[in-house]
Amino acid sequence: MHLLLVEDDPRLAELVTRLLVGDHHVVETARTGESALELADGAGLDAIVLDVGLPDMSGLEVARRIRDRGSRIPILMLTARDAISDRVAGLDSGADDYLVKPFAVEELAARIRALGRRGRERTGDASMSAGSIVLDEAGRMLTVAGRRVDLSPREYAMIECLLRHKGQALTRDQLLDHAWPYDSEVTPAIVDTYVYFLRRKLRGAADRIETVRGIGYRMAAG
Ligand code: CA
Repeated sequence: MHLLLVEDDPRLAELVTRLLVGDHHVVETARTGESALELADGAGLDAIVLDVGLPDMSGLEVARRIRDRGSRIPILMLTARDAISDRVAGLDSGADDYLVKPFAVEELAARIRALGRRGRERTGDASMSAGSIVLDEAGRMLTVAGRRVDLSPREYAMIECLLRHKGQALTRDQLLDHAWPYDSEVTPAIVDTYVYFLRRKLRGAADRIETVRGIGYRMAAG
């Protein structure tokens, strides 16, 4: 998933980023509410992990403003206190879930997977598969007709994006926004290279990644 992590504590931000990147997520980071609101407008984001205690405004305010803009992006709130009022306020402000600090990193990883599922349920398809291609999010593993396929982190991000938006034609720019960090110095042509890599690895199921003339690519549904 392409995530935005909003956390002002640099050590915690670094720790969580490392965990999330290790879990094959693409991660943007922000340290203030202001920069979070700027980045939250970016294309291709799948979910936001939002600390309540930020230097310039509360995470609750950030969540409220994101919802006011009409965005339904899943938000996971990080709260420092296990106070019921905080949790209620967090959910009232539009967050989908919350996690109390200190938390186990495995717990955060599991909650983010759950957010991803919820986001897909909203668009009507919770499964991360297409025909014989199956992405096991918990095991971070792709199988094609039961055969395990080893992927580089970028290949993983690409196939995850194609499966998440299965049946939709995605432009090269959209694929770039979803699967690469915003500050990457790459051009949309890199997408063709990675589709080539993926098709080679998918062998029998390679035709599932369809070329959509004049647009880009689509993962065939079903
Ligand atoms: Ca904080």
